[in-house]
Amino acid sequence: TLSDRLAATFKNLRGKGRLSEADIDATAREIRIALLEADVALPVVRAFIKQVKERAAGAEVSQALNPAQQVIKIVNEELIGILGGETRRLRYAKNPPTVIMLAGLQGSGKTTLAGKLGRWLKQQGHAPLLVACDLQRPNAVNQLSVVAERAGVAVYAPEPGNGVGDPVKVAEDSVGYARDKHHDVVVVDTAGRLGIDEELMRQAADIRDAVSPDEILFVVDAMIGQDAVTTAEAFRDGVGFDGVVLSKLDGDARGGAALSVAQVTGKQIMFASNGEKLDDFDAFHPDRMASRILGMGDMLTLIEKAEQTFSQQEAEKMAAKLQKGPKEFTLDDFLAQMEQVRKMGSISKLLGMMPGMGQMKDQINDLDEREVDRTAAIIKSMTPAERAEPTMINGSRRARIARGSGVDVSAVKNLVERFFEARKMMSRMAQGGGMPGMPGIPG
Ligand code: GDP
Ligand code: MG
Repeated sequence: TLSDRLAATFKNLRGKGRLSEADIDATAREIRIALLEADVALPVVRAFIKQVKERAAGAEVSQALNPAQQVIKIVNEELIGILGGETRRLRYAKNPPTVIMLAGLQGSGKTTLAGKLGRWLKQQGHAPLLVACDLQRPNAVNQLSVVAERAGVAVYAPEPGNGVGDPVKVAEDSVGYARDKHHDVVVVDTAGRLGIDEELMRQAADIRDAVSPDEILFVVDAMIGQDAVTTAEAFRDGVGFDGVVLSKLDGDARGGAALSVAQVTGKQIMFASNGEKLDDFDAFHPDRMASRILGMGDMLTLIEKAEQTFSQQEAEKMAAKLQKGPKEFTLDDFLAQMEQVRKMGSISKLLGMMPGMGQMKDQINDLDEREVDRTAAIIKSMTPAERAEPTMINGSRRARIARGSGVDVSAVKNLVERFFEARKMMSRMAQGGGMPGMPGIPG
C-alpha cells in the first residue's frame, strides 16, 4: 500500500535533515500516485505537483519532521488551500427573493440537493420555494414535489396535464409568485443531460438570464472522477457558476473530482452531499477532503503529533535551562522562539481559511514576516560568542554586525535591547514556575 511505500521512503530519508531535490522528487512521486489513485485529472496532478515542488524547494528544513513528512505536510497545506479558496457563505439578495439556481449533468444530484437545501434553508429561518424547471423528464416535476414535501417546503411547478411547459417561463413566473407569497429564497431546479450538450447549456443560460440568480451552484457527482474537469469547464463556459456542490461523497470515491474542479475553476466548494436522505448534507470541509484525497489520514496525524511533541520538548528544554539562570537564554534561543511564532503564523493562514477561525488568524498575523527575516539576518551576522553573551556587543561589534546584515547600527542596538527585555521576562517567568512565553515577538 501507499503507507508501506512511504514508510520505506522514510527509512531512506531519515536523518538527512535537508530538503534536497532528490528527497522532494522521491516523495512527489508517491504523492503523484496517490492523487492519480484518487482520480484527480492528470493535468491537475501535474500542475499541483509542480506547485508543491516549488514550495518544497524553498522551504526551510524542519527539525521536527523528516524530509518526506515535510513534503507531505506541504502537500496537505496546498491541498487545503486549493480546496478552501476564500471561504464564503451563500449570498442573499438585498431585495428578496434570493434566487439560487442549480446546474449540472443529469443524475448529478440537483433535485435531491434542492430538497436538502430547502430543508437547510428552512432550518435557518428562511421560507424557501423550490421551482421545477426540469420539464424534460416526465417524472422530474413529481420527484421535486416529493422531496419538497419531505423537506416541508413549498414547491412551484407548472400545472400537470398542460403539456410540456416552458422552463424559462416557469422560472420567470416563480420569482413573482415567491414575492407575492413571501418566499425569501427561490431554489431553481433545472434539467440536465447525461453528457455535455449544447441545447442543455442554452436552456440553462436562458433560465439564468430570465431570473438573474444571486447564486448559481454547479452540482457535480464526486464519482465521475477524471470527467470532472471537462464537465466543470463546460458549465463554466456555457452557464457560469459561483459555487460548487459535491454530491455522492458517501460513495467510495477518494474525492479527486473535488481537487480537479477547485483547481480548474477556482470556485469555492460550498456544500457536500453524502447520501440520499435530506439530512445527508453538510458544509464542505477542505481539511477532511484533503486527507481523503491523499489517503494518508494516519500520516497526517503522525506529522501533527511529531510537531507538537517537538515544540513541547523545546519548551521544556528552555524551562529547564532558565532554572539555571537568566544567562542560559541566548540570542540563538531568542531567534528559535521567533521562528516558532512564525511557524504558527503559517498555521494561522490555514486556520484563516476555515470558517470561524478568522480571529485567531488576525492575532497571529501581527507578527511581521519581514521583521523576523531581518532579525534572523542580524543574529546570524553575530559570532557564536556574541550570541551566547550579547553584553559583549560594543560599538565596533555593532557596526560590524550592521554591515554584515545590511541594516542600520540602530537596528542592531534595538534588537539587543529587545533581547535583554525578553531575557528578563523569561527568567522572571522561570522563577515564577510558569512556562516561558514568546517574548521574541517584535512590538
Ligand atoms: P439530478 O438528475 O441532477 O436531479 O439528480 P437527482 O437528484 O435525481 O439524483 C440522481 C440519483 O442520485 C438519485 O437516485 C438520488 O437519490 C441519488 N443521489 C443524489 N445525491 C446523492 C448523494 O449525495 N448520495 C447518494 N448516494 N446518492 C445521491
Ligand atoms: Mg433532477
